[in-house]
Amino acid sequence: MGQVRTGHGAYVSTELALSLFGDARIMPVVLGRVREITAYGTSHRIFTEGHRLAMIARDQGCSFPGCTAAPAMCQAHHVTDFSLTRRTSIDDGTLVCGVHHREHPNLGWICKMINGIPHWTAPPWIDPGQAPRRNRAHDPLGD
Ligand SMILES: [Zn+2]
Repeated sequence: MGQVRTGHGAYVSTELALSLFGDARIMPVVLGRVREITAYGTSHRIFTEGHRLAMIARDQGCSFPGCTAAPAMCQAHHVTDFSLTRRTSIDDGTLVCGVHHREHPNLGWICKMINGIPHWTAPPWIDPGQAPRRNRAHDPLGD
């Protein structure tokens, strides 16, 4: 097993680095004998400013049903886990406040994109019909 150098300059085992893969932003780089770059990854985990601005225009704040958190209170969320898709895009991202970003899995809610709009499905004990819901709290017309 090889070693991986972190962004802070520390060396950790490849095994440890791989165990952190789901939470870390990792850019794989393969070096040759004289440290030339022979290959590198191109996936980007972090949403860009452009992504965030587009999601602000679409979501207008936290997309979780009933939440009124403004865009400045929100984080960008990968609707499909980044470790599965290895991609970051607005068609699979949404804004969520810190509480809903952190707690939605524990609360049993699932986000899904429908026609390019984030929708949330409540757990069966809240909604036995499992109807996807869109947050209307930011819409002044309510629909
Ligand atoms: Zn929220």
